[in-house]
Amino acid sequence: MTPHDTAALPAFLQACQHAIGADQVLDDPDDISPYVTDWRRRYVGRACAVLRPASTAEVATLVRLATQFGVALVPQGGNTGLAGGATPDASGRQAVLSLRRLDRVRAVDPINDTITAEAGCILAHVQARAADAGRLFPLSLAAEGSCTLGGNLATNAGGTAVLRYGNARELCLGLEVVTAKGEVWNGLRGLRKDNTGYDLRDIFIGAEGTLGIITAAVMKLYPQPTARITALAGVASPQAALQLLALARDTAGALLSGFELMSDFCLRLVTHHFPSQRYPFAVPHAQIVLLELSDGESEAHASQLIERLMERAFERGIVDDALVAQSLAQSNAMWALREHIPLAQANEGLNIKHDIAVPSSRIGEFIDTTDAAIAAAVPGARMVTFGHLGDGNLHYNVQAPAGVDPRAFLAEHQARVNRIVYDSVHAHHGTVSAEHGVGQLKIEDVARYKSPVELELMRALKATLDPGNVFNPGKVLRCG
Ligand SMILES: Cc1cc2nc3c(=O)[nH]c(=O)nc-3n(C[C@H](O)[C@H](O)[C@H](O)COP(=O)(O)OP(=O)(O)OC[C@H]3O[C@@H](n4cnc5c(N)ncnc54)[C@H](O)[C@@H]3O)c2cc1C
Repeated sequence: MTPHDTAALPAFLQACQHAIGADQVLDDPDDISPYVTDWRRRYVGRACAVLRPASTAEVATLVRLATQFGVALVPQGGNTGLAGGATPDASGRQAVLSLRRLDRVRAVDPINDTITAEAGCILAHVQARAADAGRLFPLSLAAEGSCTLGGNLATNAGGTAVLRYGNARELCLGLEVVTAKGEVWNGLRGLRKDNTGYDLRDIFIGAEGTLGIITAAVMKLYPQPTARITALAGVASPQAALQLLALARDTAGALLSGFELMSDFCLRLVTHHFPSQRYPFAVPHAQIVLLELSDGESEAHASQLIERLMERAFERGIVDDALVAQSLAQSNAMWALREHIPLAQANEGLNIKHDIAVPSSRIGEFIDTTDAAIAAAVPGARMVTFGHLGDGNLHYNVQAPAGVDPRAFLAEHQARVNRIVYDSVHAHHGTVSAEHGVGQLKIEDVARYKSPVELELMRALKATLDPGNVFNPGKVLRCG
């Protein structure tokens, strides 16, 4: 957005106060502070105000005012994003548009199997409302107690159930969006089939607030599974884990709902930093797979399937060891190992993070070649590799060599390590951001690795839908 007259800011704020009430326009630095710092505290911006509308109509009014006064809007939900997408820049001329007060579940339709909820609904509340109606809303991630449905859609969030149910995009049937003209597009149709031209919904999903403000969505619901069975398998390599994935798909089909990979080093970090967590096997294994089946039939049926799967895997020499949870407590303990990895990694010290995806079939080759390139460039660097193997999505993180100061390590090696990893991702036909989006963190990487044709199409979309660059400038792609 073109730099506007700072003198216009007081008039803008006054107009906003008139539109949504003075107490919903925050401009005290102490009140604003939590909204201008991202979850990882990597980005701290400034804002002329935080605007807290309570309805779609109020959002539309604020967008019209922002256009009129030349103030850029940074949409924000739970502020749990990991790419700095919801943090304003340092100019102090952008306003944060918090959607948190749009928090109504508008309808649950058990026959159409849908829930219609506003953008500011906390994800866990959407799950709970679905459960109250005897249905499952399967989107699930560690930030679900704080992140919002609007943020989930704007980042096309993934999480632990993508393998079976898909990511936020695949769960969404319709959107309500405020456009840059301050008009409301009501696309809350809840249809599973609608071939009437361009799919506008998909354009706004994953756009990180750069094309429009999502104010509500219709999301798919599913039957609650009757039984969940969790297991751990020790395997010798990522390739063996991929063989197990193929076998699990053959054996369990659509019942396979989770397939996570964790390297031995990941679990060593967990048991070191959290002594209450136990290494699950008597002897170490290079890679550990956590897999889960969700069965609509019965506990016995799920148990039979997982036993058959493990028998086949042992017969073929794919797995070296396996443990099947016999109780909910054991299942929770298995998931706890996986969930403690990011915390253990944080306790170990700053590290270089990558949230990447390559086609599942190429994951083994990607890990081998990239590990080797990093070992050559930074001898002793420790690889913390884990993630949603079933989705081809790895958290491929690099920790300083033992005894090396993490800050010094990052200062010296971050740029080089990023280049090695992202060049390798590109060579393996992957993406530099699988789940967390681009925000401001990966804007240069997107410019580097996307083709000129793709970038031009993206800029054309942005110029058409947001010609004044009102929505979240400086995120996802550079304009102009
Ligand atoms: C502990 C932890 C674990 C996580 N695990 C996962 C995971 O497994 N999978 C995963 O995908 N992500 C994960 N994340 C990242 C994050 O939780 C998700 O990206 C989440 O979807 C963001 O939702 P939010 O409401 O916090 O969005 P915010 O952080 O507030 O915003 C994220 C982006 O969306 C835009 N935005 C927000 N609301 C709207 C709206 N209504 N309309 C238009 N644009 C909007 C913002 O401008 C910003 O660009 C994790 C984060 C944490 C802290």
